Amino acid sequence: MLIDSHCHPNSKELRQDAGGLMKRAQAAGVGRMLIVGCDLEDSAEAVAMAHRFVEYGAYAAVGIHPHEAARYGESLPQPLMDLAGDGRVVALGEMGLDYYYDLSPRDVQQKFFAAQLEWAARTGLPAILHIRDAMPDALSILRDFKDKVRLLFHCYGGGLEYLDEVLDMGGFCALGGAVTWKRSDELREVAARLPADRLLLETDCPYMTPAPFRGKPNEPAYVRYVYETVATARSVSSEELAAQVARNAANLFGWEECPDV
Ligand SMILES: [Zn+2]
Repeated sequence: MLIDSHCHPNSKELRQDAGGLMKRAQAAGVGRMLIVGCDLEDSAEAVAMAHRFVEYGAYAAVGIHPHEAARYGESLPQPLMDLAGDGRVVALGEMGLDYYYDLSPRDVQQKFFAAQLEWAARTGLPAILHIRDAMPDALSILRDFKDKVRLLFHCYGGGLEYLDEVLDMGGFCALGGAVTWKRSDELREVAARLPADRLLLETDCPYMTPAPFRGKPNEPAYVRYVYETVATARSVSSEELAAQVARNAANLFGWEECPDV
């Protein structure tokens, strides 16, 4: 049974065909997926979908992406915080810093990131981190939350350079479609070196489409190509990898393991 630990069927690109996408995911062996919110409306849709698609193992994460931080100022909207109490919500995010696009001013991103980490510390829910070209600043904010918040570095992009510190913080690293791309040798090296109990796999669909389908929208069914590449990089069988990732996801998110794992 496969896990997609980060997907956006709630995005406008995928929303219309969400039912078909769920069926294809199930047919590909995906037994659990985490639908991640990027702003208030998107988070509300993630929660609604997690309820609508319970039979497909859908759960939700709610939060504000750094791109959207400028729309909210410094304080978290109360309706967002209310969503975190829903029974299908198992994590907060995505939250973080994105200095590649810089769609929100950096000081606003930093304040908003810290506010969401405080929220994670209060609720005890793990934080899903989106960090792009901002690792030094992100780590300096995260150091204040070490041992207070469980961290998932979504689409881990810190390379080998930051891996030790991330692991020292207790962080989990999620790898996605990029690991399948031709030029991603360093990411495959990260995949090989990650401790078995810190590894998660994801699609981040509709983005980050794995190599065989690059150029098309991504979807949870394609997570199996991420599994194949990572199993090869780690020299483990697909069954062993699938069982390990399912255990890791159950540990981090607190959901029930899939019955046949
Ligand atoms: Zn995402």
